[in-house]
Amino acid sequence: MRRIAAHYIFLDGEIFPRPVVTLSDEGVITDIEVAADDIDRRPLTEFYDGVLLPDLVNAHCHSELSHLAGQIAEGGGFTAFAQAMGTVRRGFSAEERAEAWSAADRAMWEQGVGAVGDVCNGTTTFAAKSQSPIAYTNFVELFGLGNADADVARRVAAEGVAAGLRCGITPHSTYSLSVAAFADAVAASGPDVPLSVHFMESPDEAQLYRGEGAMAEWYAQTDRRIDFAHFGSPAERIVGQVPADRDILLIHNCFVGAEEVERIESHFRGRVTWVVCPRSNHYISRTVPPVGLLMRKGVRVAIGTDSLASNTALSMVREMAALDAPIERVLAWATTGGAEALGIEEQMGRLAVGRRSGIVALAGLGRDLEITEGSLLRRIC
Ligand SMILES: [Zn+2]
Repeated sequence: MRRIAAHYIFLDGEIFPRPVVTLSDEGVITDIEVAADDIDRRPLTEFYDGVLLPDLVNAHCHSELSHLAGQIAEGGGFTAFAQAMGTVRRGFSAEERAEAWSAADRAMWEQGVGAVGDVCNGTTTFAAKSQSPIAYTNFVELFGLGNADADVARRVAAEGVAAGLRCGITPHSTYSLSVAAFADAVAASGPDVPLSVHFMESPDEAQLYRGEGAMAEWYAQTDRRIDFAHFGSPAERIVGQVPADRDILLIHNCFVGAEEVERIESHFRGRVTWVVCPRSNHYISRTVPPVGLLMRKGVRVAIGTDSLASNTALSMVREMAALDAPIERVLAWATTGGAEALGIEEQMGRLAVGRRSGIVALAGLGRDLEITEGSLLRRIC
């Protein structure tokens, strides 16, 4: 048995004071008491600073790019970043990649992440992932105008499944795939794993559909042709090419307005999650995700770190500190929001009696319990 006490606990959307959580030897929560008045006089009780949380869920990452930390300069804008990604991906040994991946995986685990929605372009991380305590949902991504092949993605996903991992196939975005390749990716994805699509990260994406902006210019210069402009916008393409019963994560959303949120929410009967990655947006283009709009619309939100190619750390607490929203909202997005997004809410995202959950302490909060640059996440179990 183990007994854990702290200043606060986060339970079902609310923060309560003076919790005592009891765990069985098998790690199952057998009791949760709040507002306990004699915490410091109970025998064999460990006391922690801050707020007790369940495992966090990083809803959007590309852990296989961890060796690209610091390789692309900050603030260059979205199209310049996409161009740079095409060149910096090469030139690292298998050992360098594996070492960077292991360090990233270990840091996420120690800082409380229990599950990750992780985009994959190849099989390089699969063997190591099968040994990780983190539950990865792998989104094998179909990417590229003209050369995207769903059969390649199928083989990658099959290798992941053979390694015991949860794998699905997903289209990368609404600007990087032909109509046929996007449809192939959706058809190949299978119903058990949601789709995860990069969406409206920059104004260039919507402009592309009108033949304007930096991305349209880049595509014209490199002789890339698009056949999806007739959809009229990224949102109409999602509605036009993704069946209503699918579950989908939309990643970034920096340039969505109320109309796009309404259009997409009204199309889907499946689960839609609006995933925000504020520090990646800041790194690439000094933009911010529209959390005020998403809160007003009452939609499901989750948080991701994106990759170390566009972030200085895979740190959920740094992402949480960058969001302008009440702490209860931010904690819900980082836990239940992410778990529901990935469809793993039965195992992850809540502290409750009968559950076997990791327990994480969020310490170093401000005077009014706000998450600050000095806040820390530490895994207790
Ligand atoms: Zn991404």
